[in-house]
Amino acid sequence: EKIKICEFMKSIIRKIEPVYKSKGVQLDFICNEDAYVEIDPIRFEQVCFNLLDNSLKYSDIHSTTTIEVKKRGNKIIILIRDQGIGIPSEDLPYIFDRLYRVDKSRSRLTGGFGLGLSIVKEIVNAHGGTISVDSKKNEGTCFKITLEEKKYEECLIN
Ligand code: ATP
Ligand code: MG
Repeated sequence: EKIKICEFMKSIIRKIEPVYKSKGVQLDFICNEDAYVEIDPIRFEQVCFNLLDNSLKYSDIHSTTTIEVKKRGNKIIILIRDQGIGIPSEDLPYIFDRLYRVDKSRSRLTGGFGLGLSIVKEIVNAHGGTISVDSKKNEGTCFKITLEEKKYEECLIN
């Protein structure tokens, strides 16, 4: 399905914002220019909810999570950046693995199965996209999704 990515992200934010508000974490959105991407909205919503659930779970009150959409050539880049506890560099290569969770004691407090990110990666890859992560312990985490821009044929006459 051909979807305008900024509009789509706004609808995601509308749904999840109350959960962020209730924990006292701010959710910001930056998008200067909308563009089309080819995505399955239900699957892609699952991707966003998983990443935003993580950001909230591993962030403290009064911090900010920022969603940014930008265009780089024919690529659409979606950044989800938080100011949470971060991921130690030695764990970074494994976080997309099934059932992998950083630090069992931390994980016991926050709950979860360590499935979220493996599903996220599977869905993004199934869309022909890529996902990567950048993180610094005690500073924050940034997930970056790259998708192909879908050019809209303005005058498609059959
Ligand atoms: P589930 O998603 O199944 O409920 P989970 O959130 O623990 O459980 P994943 O979403 O796969 O599992 O994440 C794997 C691990 O990566 C997490 O346990 C957590 O330690 C770390 N992690 C993921 N996202 C973040 C983040 N935004 N900030 C800090 N750590 C994170
Ligand atoms: Mg998760």
